[in-house]
Amino acid sequence: MNAPIVLGEILRDWSILKEKLEGWAVCDHFAFRVKNKDQRRADYVCWMEGCSGSWRVYVSKNQADEIEVKVLAERHTCISRQITPWETYNTQSWLRRTVPEHLFVTRDMTIHEILESIQFNYGVAVNSEAARLARASLIHDRIEHQ
Ligand SMILES: [Zn+2]
Repeated sequence: MNAPIVLGEILRDWSILKEKLEGWAVCDHFAFRVKNKDQRRADYVCWMEGCSGSWRVYVSKNQADEIEVKVLAERHTCISRQITPWETYNTQSWLRRTVPEHLFVTRDMTIHEILESIQFNYGVAVNSEAARLARASLIHDRIEHQ
C-alpha cells in the first residue's frame, strides 16, 4: 500500500499515528517497533531482520505542540518476511480496533470467527491466543458500556 502518512504531515495525537502505522504494517506484512520515544519525539523502525536503517518513521512535536512527520523512509530491505508472534495483527491494539469493524461483538462471537474474518479481510493468520484475549476484552468492554 502507499504510505498512509506523508513527510511533513501533522497528526493530532499519538493514537492516530499508531493506528496509521499499524494499518500500514498489516497491509504490507512487516512489523515495526519503537526505537526511541519520549514526550516530544518517537522513532519507529522495521522489526524485521535485515531492515535496520531502511524503513523508518521519525516524528517530533513542533512549536504548536503538534506531532509532525520529520523523516519518512518507506523502502524495506528485509528480505524474508517471516511470521513472528509479535506481528502487528497479533497485537491487542490492532485486534481490538479491527475486529469490531468486521464482526458484531456478542458473547456468541467465537475465536474461530475472528480468525476467519481476519484471514479473509487481511490474508493473515492471527495467533489464537491473541484472538482469545481480544474476544474477551471486546465482550467485556461491550458489557461495561451498556
Ligand atoms: Zn522491513
